[in-house]
Order: sequence, then structure tokens, then C-alpha cells
Amino acid sequence: MMGLTDLFNMSKPEGDKQKELIRQLAVLGVKNPSLCFQCAKCTSGCEAMKLLELQPHSVMASVKTGFLDEMMNSDVIWACVGCFKCKERCPQEMSPVDVMFILKNWYVMSGGSLPGDYQNLLQGILSTGYIQEPVEVLDKDNKGWSREKLGLPKRGHPKNINGFMSALSQLAAEKL
Ligand code: SF4
Ligand code: SF4
Repeated sequence: MMGLTDLFNMSKPEGDKQKELIRQLAVLGVKNPSLCFQCAKCTSGCEAMKLLELQPHSVMASVKTGFLDEMMNSDVIWACVGCFKCKERCPQEMSPVDVMFILKNWYVMSGGSLPGDYQNLLQGILSTGYIQEPVEVLDKDNKGWSREKLGLPKRGHPKNINGFMSALSQLAAEKL
């Protein structure tokens, strides 16, 4: 597989896509990535940095320079677990996580296939309305707690899964 450096060396910045990215970020209330001053506060708190060496500030640097296709087609963006810490930490009100969500959406809309783990999540949403079944959580004494033991109501399911999926698509179209 080609590295990002190889891809960048073969390509030119894409102005139109950059404008579209800025527009979609504005819809989400996020400022223009050009304001990123590369302080790397996002990377210092990134959960995926610890395990998968994701560097959100490097993603922002690539996006700033307009190499969007390269980021969209790299494995890097799929390492993001969507914890939103980068957005919370950014002193410039940037949002690397939203940039990666948009690039992931573009990749799938352009015909790219989802990585395996994401297909499992999608399958869960399609069949139950949730990304996973509820699991027990452990307290400090290693005792397991289920929803029932915690007195939480039973989890429901969408009654009309087709209507649910159509509502999801409509919401996505309205947001972006
Ligand atoms: S996105 Fe924000 S936190 Fe990350 S490098 Fe840019 S300015 Fe710093
Ligand atoms: S949302 Fe993604 S990029 Fe941001 S801190 Fe979490 S894992 Fe890192």
C-alpha cells in the first residue's frame, strides 16, 4: 500500500473539494480548517493516537493544504473512534473529528467500501437500530451490572426498520 507521502507527491491540491468541505463544516458550526495553527493539542488527547498512531493535527495539515482525495483514500481517517476529544481540546474551535466524518462519508459516497468493523456496526444498526447489544459493566469490585440490575428500562427496537432507515437518510440529507 502507498503511504501518504507517496500519494501527496503524485497529486495537486483540490480547491473545489476544499470549498465544499468548508461549507459542510460551516453547516455543523465548525470553523474553517485554515485557522488550525498546528499546536497538536488534538493529537495529545487522541484516543486513537495511543493505539493506532492517528495524528489529527497531521490530518488537519493535509486538509489545509487541500490534499483531500489523498486523505479520503487513506486508512488514517478510519482509525478515528469518534470520541470528540480533539474538538473539545482545540483552542481554535476546529474539529478534526468532523473533518474525518465528512471524508469518510465522501469515500463511501464515491463507491468505496466500508472497512470490516464498520460493516458490522452498520449491520447492527440495520437489524436492531443499535450498534451493539447492551453489555454488563463492571464496578470497582469487579461486580457486573446489567441494565436490569441498574433499574434501567428495557431497551426498545425501532418498530418499522424501513421507516427508521429512511428517516436516517433524510436527516443526513438535511444536515449536509
Ligand atoms: S486542530 Fe486545533 S488542536 Fe489540532 S493542531 Fe489545529 S489548532 Fe491545534
Ligand atoms: S475523535 Fe478521533 S481524532 Fe478526535 S480525539 Fe477522538 S479518536 Fe482522535
